[in-house]
Amino acid sequence: MNPLADALGLYVHWPYCARICPYCDFNVYRPKGQEDALLEAILADMSHWRARSGARPLASLHFGGGTPSLMTGAQIERLIAHAETLWGLAPGAEIGLEANPKDVDHFGDFIAAGVNRLSIGVQSLDDVALKQLGRDHDGPLARRAIERAMAVCDRVSIDMIYARAGQSAKSWEAELREILAFGAGHISPYQLTIEARTAFGRRAARGEQLDSPEELAADLYELTHEICEAHGLAAYEISNHARTPADQSHHNRLYWEGGDWIGVGPGAHGRIGSSGETGRQACEARAQPKAYLDAIAATGCGVGEAETLSAADERAERILMGMRLADGLDLDVLQRKTGLGIDAAAFERLSAQGLVEQSGGRIRLLPAGLIFADRISGELVPDLS
Ligand code: SF4
Repeated sequence: MNPLADALGLYVHWPYCARICPYCDFNVYRPKGQEDALLEAILADMSHWRARSGARPLASLHFGGGTPSLMTGAQIERLIAHAETLWGLAPGAEIGLEANPKDVDHFGDFIAAGVNRLSIGVQSLDDVALKQLGRDHDGPLARRAIERAMAVCDRVSIDMIYARAGQSAKSWEAELREILAFGAGHISPYQLTIEARTAFGRRAARGEQLDSPEELAADLYELTHEICEAHGLAAYEISNHARTPADQSHHNRLYWEGGDWIGVGPGAHGRIGSSGETGRQACEARAQPKAYLDAIAATGCGVGEAETLSAADERAERILMGMRLADGLDLDVLQRKTGLGIDAAAFERLSAQGLVEQSGGRIRLLPAGLIFADRISGELVPDLS
């Protein structure tokens, strides 16, 4: 039984941020007074997608970005109401929103609008680290945002960034323990990665050390897993920890299980269908807000690029996503959706090396394999050349 593999989700990308963080390589922009027009365009795009997707209730509706907490409660309410009218919401549907600590005074408005999961971009509790990361909040505001989120919402997740320059295992441990003491049911500690096309990427290319050396980063990763697990938040995915299955992110889990999702808003990605049906469509909306607005005005549809994945490409993507999960890749779903399986000989070899195992209808990484997740996933994809 794997309901999310057959579920439909909706992702709404709000691309604006009050300030662009120097490590961020998401599709983000400073607001330029187009916000009202963009809201209308996203509503129109949703109607367009309803005609394509058919009537399937949404298991998840997620507001990401960018900074969707820059929207007002009334704007969020309109988007939720429109989604409900077009598709309906499945029982227990998750309505998640990524929030900046600076928008703490609006958290109650988002909950009143229908949001039932808040994901807070805390990143650090340390003022110096937050400055290094170019964030526009400080430690006291981060703490206040967590407290407020937990007061108004039952399901709260905290995003953190570690493996920063100059960070010791001791200081990360203290920071992580303080975060865990708030008692949220979900935490996503991400390692800082330096992407070439960011301000950090350019500074690193000039020789500046902005992240931890590789060996220390690997130690911090292990430490993170140990401490979270000791606090009852085991990892259910490489960088995601939850207290109970109900605390897991339905939105992300739907991606990893290979469900369908529609992406609206500039640069949003989507996947819909499967090779066993009409083919799996991979869609990407126009990235620039102006281009997205123009596309909606011209055609009612924001999609810039769309392709139908081959069964082999769909299989590779499903293996890569599924193997990120602690309980692994669902082999029945893979076979049913693509008509294809994994490389059985590679699985036997990796299993003999103690890196993977089969449990029920799933294959998963063993602890020794976690650090090699991408390589192992690649080996499980049959070589067609
Ligand atoms: S607030 Fe988040 S999405 Fe916006 S620039 Fe910073 S890291 Fe990127």
